[in-house]
Amino acid sequence: MSIYSPSIEKLIENFEKLPSIGHKTATRLAFYMLNCSDESAKEFIDAIESARKNLKYCSICFNISDTDPCMICANPKRDKSIICVVEDVKDIIAMEKTHEYKGVYHVLHGSISPMNGIGPDDIKIKELLTRLQTGEVKEVILATNPRVEGEATAMYLSKLIKPLGIKVTRIARGIPIGGDLEYTDEITLLQALEGRMEI
Ligand SMILES: [Zn+2]
Repeated sequence: MSIYSPSIEKLIENFEKLPSIGHKTATRLAFYMLNCSDESAKEFIDAIESARKNLKYCSICFNISDTDPCMICANPKRDKSIICVVEDVKDIIAMEKTHEYKGVYHVLHGSISPMNGIGPDDIKIKELLTRLQTGEVKEVILATNPRVEGEATAMYLSKLIKPLGIKVTRIARGIPIGGDLEYTDEITLLQALEGRMEI
């Protein structure tokens, strides 16, 4: 039996579903929402509703955006000859924070993971290949995560893209500092070996 009334319990439960929110934080947030002003509560509800209603996927790069195409694809200053391939929308934000990258993106919305039943057709690979057909693209940067799935996806993409005569690059990776060779997965280890440079 819960010590809270069903409505509060339900609110706590819903906050608890949010990423990295535990029961304690969920309870605190639920009580905050109950005690805040009607206007604050309404503003919060409206923000969620409007974000959900207005945000869509960019039909070019599959970024989440208020507009289609997204602000990056629509920006004439961005170099359309370079596409950086990422797994998730959040990776774009990370890349943008570097302020170094001036090309455009392609969001795969996942990575190939046979263990989880995710194959090439389940992520936005077809859409990427379609973008490459215009002849405008000179380089594809594979910025999938340096985990087994990300590496496998990068290798899969590289095999598909290289024959098109487009330069394929992979973000710098290797065994993380403090990492242990023994516990590094074989793909990472192999790539660290293959990518070795003469010093
Ligand atoms: Zn876009």
